[in-house]
Amino acid sequence: MKFEVAERIAKLPPYLFAELDAMKKQKLEEGVKIIDFGVGDPDLPTPQHIVEAMKKAVEKEENQKYPSYEGMLSFRQAVAEFYKRRKGVKLDAEKEVITLIGSKEGIAHLPLAYVNPGDIVLVPDPGYPVYASSTILAEGKPYTMPLKKENGFLPDLQAIPDDVARKAKIMFLNYPNNPTTGVAEKDFIKEVVDFCRDNEIILAHDAAYSEITFDYKAKSFLEVDDAFEVVIEFNSLSKTYNMTGWRIAFAVGNPDILAGLLKVKTNIDSGVFQAVQEAGIAALTGSDEVIEKNNSIYKERRDVLIEGLQNIGLNVEVPKATFYVWCEVPEGYDSMTFTKKLLNEAGILVTPGVGFGEYGEGFVRFALTRDVSVIKEAVERLQNISI
Ligand SMILES: *Cc1c(COP(=O)(O)O)cnc(C)c1O
Repeated sequence: MKFEVAERIAKLPPYLFAELDAMKKQKLEEGVKIIDFGVGDPDLPTPQHIVEAMKKAVEKEENQKYPSYEGMLSFRQAVAEFYKRRKGVKLDAEKEVITLIGSKEGIAHLPLAYVNPGDIVLVPDPGYPVYASSTILAEGKPYTMPLKKENGFLPDLQAIPDDVARKAKIMFLNYPNNPTTGVAEKDFIKEVVDFCRDNEIILAHDAAYSEITFDYKAKSFLEVDDAFEVVIEFNSLSKTYNMTGWRIAFAVGNPDILAGLLKVKTNIDSGVFQAVQEAGIAALTGSDEVIEKNNSIYKERRDVLIEGLQNIGLNVEVPKATFYVWCEVPEGYDSMTFTKKLLNEAGILVTPGVGFGEYGEGFVRFALTRDVSVIKEAVERLQNISI
């Protein structure tokens, strides 16, 4: 018997990395020691005080029950405290915060709450693939907003045709940006909030890297006037506290938009394990030193890699935020052929920009999730290949 998958599955973008995976496997079999800059998952451990909070919380019988859908009030209060402390944004913990099983979960469910078949969703390209795939699963139509280097990797809102803007239901944005490392300043945030208010579009901002910054402070979109009318902001403990495996995040902003998302979630999941939420409280209300320590580690790695890339003549900007480096591909290559060259000749694995959308072409992404000694070795290997 053969069961056809639903059309919405067939419409998902194809997986582009099968050939690359096979090449990697072969290199490993040949005994090559691959330096993998492909994974956007911190190599650093979760801070100890968070792990200890989890251990204690696991012992409590009351945590063995189903949690509430929207999350413990104490966790949501910790989120409000964190936003006040880090962004100067005041949140009503009862109405303006919900708990998520990772921000990916919330992002993926948002279109189910607001998109009817055929509705347009504005998605950045290059971008985190979930914006487009969740739109497709909700039977909406992703409309590409190119993020170009000459625009500082911000979308050109004027380039969105009026009829598209009027029909759009959601706009996804992500700053500090994965993969381009672009950042959004207040002027742009104001402009995009106004654009979404004028066109009655939900502005879904993914702030997963809001705290991974270097001598720079990333703004919450909720800092600008009137943002609470249209903004839902996703944020996560994953990258800030090295907790990707724990699956805990949150959404903040407009209470009605949050309620729509929660409506979907109450029909699909049953919340986050309370012990994990208690660990999350320890993270969010704990010392900010853990964030600063992380960032100083990423900064050292960034500087070593950037210097190495620039020394061999590659075009790359110094990122203000995120743990990525978005590097231009040299002449004569595209992102896939350059990735293969790095793997074949230097045993270095990066992510080809085209994996994040057609406008990612011409770039490769390095994730700074390797020890500085490993990055130094990678730089040495790069010096020995001709580019
Ligand atoms: C890592 C990442 C996320 C997902 O984080 P989780 O909270 O672990 O689901 C969301 N958006 C972007 C852009 C990311 O890079």
